[in-house]
Amino acid sequence: MSEEKWTAFFRHAESLGVRVERNRPMANNTTYGVGGVAACALAVTSRHELQEVAGLLAAHPQIPVAVVGRGSNLLVADEGFDGVVVLMSYAANEHAIEAVGDDIVAAGAMPMPILARRSIALGRAGLEWCVGIPGSVGGAVRMNAGGHGAEIVDALVSAEIVSMKSGRWATIAASDMGLHFRGSALSPHHVVISACLNTTVRTDESVDIDEVVTWRRQHQPGGRNAGSVFVNPAQGEGSAGALIDSCGLREFAIGGARVSEKHANFIQASDGATAADIVAVMSHVQSVVEQQTGIRLRSEVCMLGFNDEVMQAFADPRHSDGDRIAQAQRVCELMGETQ
Ligand SMILES: Cc1cc2nc3c(=O)[nH]c(=O)nc-3n(C[C@H](O)[C@H](O)[C@H](O)COP(=O)(O)OP(=O)(O)OC[C@H]3O[C@@H](n4cnc5c(N)ncnc54)[C@H](O)[C@@H]3O)c2cc1C
Repeated sequence: MSEEKWTAFFRHAESLGVRVERNRPMANNTTYGVGGVAACALAVTSRHELQEVAGLLAAHPQIPVAVVGRGSNLLVADEGFDGVVVLMSYAANEHAIEAVGDDIVAAGAMPMPILARRSIALGRAGLEWCVGIPGSVGGAVRMNAGGHGAEIVDALVSAEIVSMKSGRWATIAASDMGLHFRGSALSPHHVVISACLNTTVRTDESVDIDEVVTWRRQHQPGGRNAGSVFVNPAQGEGSAGALIDSCGLREFAIGGARVSEKHANFIQASDGATAADIVAVMSHVQSVVEQQTGIRLRSEVCMLGFNDEVMQAFADPRHSDGDRIAQAQRVCELMGETQ
């Protein structure tokens, strides 16, 4: 982005009273704990602030935008991101969760483990698995997060979304969101404000949350990672983790990044790790798995600030399918965006 465009943007932000942070280090906003700075960060703590930010960004459509929740599925380049990050802060007055008939309506910034526990406290069942996902409700909708045999698409009724392109707020039905395995038709400039999730009455038979937590501790590593790095390939081709394991890549390391000993689809970052180390491990894993099995693994982790070559190497080619493009266009239409 040219200095001129940034100057105009910052001036406009100031005139609206929107608090901007320039050159925000992003490492602390991701569970990997690596990466460079975002040229600008807008921390949003209320609906009102989000409305102002949406208006501001809609007036500067040439500025790249990325929404950041808990950063648990995010890898930021060491070179940083020459755009605006909207940080969905979990502020005290936005902890809203409400039971509406059979549904639970939860704020987009709410951490998934809190959603799980509070839906139980409200006597509702079906969201217990969310206790194992260290992301936010908004990030989970965007990614169609899942685990323990369930995923967001099973429960999602609708989501309230704001567009950073048109500034418009709308409630979009789940059926219009193109939810697929670990992804959706939402674009980077769409922010999930709240999600409406269908639940049932909790009974003695309902899932025990402690069992979910115990299973996670037994099967997944702690420390700095972003969960599964690669998307599972097509049905019948095995899980990404099993493929990586079959190629003997557990504990393969470059610099401060290492394939987890406990789960082969996790990459662990240690002190001194860089985003480049993680990408180097990803590239090696991708290339060895392709050589040995003929299957090209694609990134499940969202990558921010990387050059086109890196983005292309890990992008899922299914994103270019006609159906997926049509679904993404449909969401943009519903959000009042001119193409
Ligand atoms: C230890 C560990 C275990 C994990 N296990 C699982 C698992 O079992 N299953 C699973 O599916 N995932 C898993 N993950 C990955 C991750 O927790 C999920 O993808 C989660 O949904 C990401 O939410 P987030 O708020 O952290 O999103 P971020 O990492 O902040 O962002 C991820 C994507 O969501 C977008 N986004 C974030 N917030 C919003 C919002 N409010 N509105 C619109 N878009 C938004 C971002 O722009 C980005 O594209 C795991 C991660 C870790 C670290």
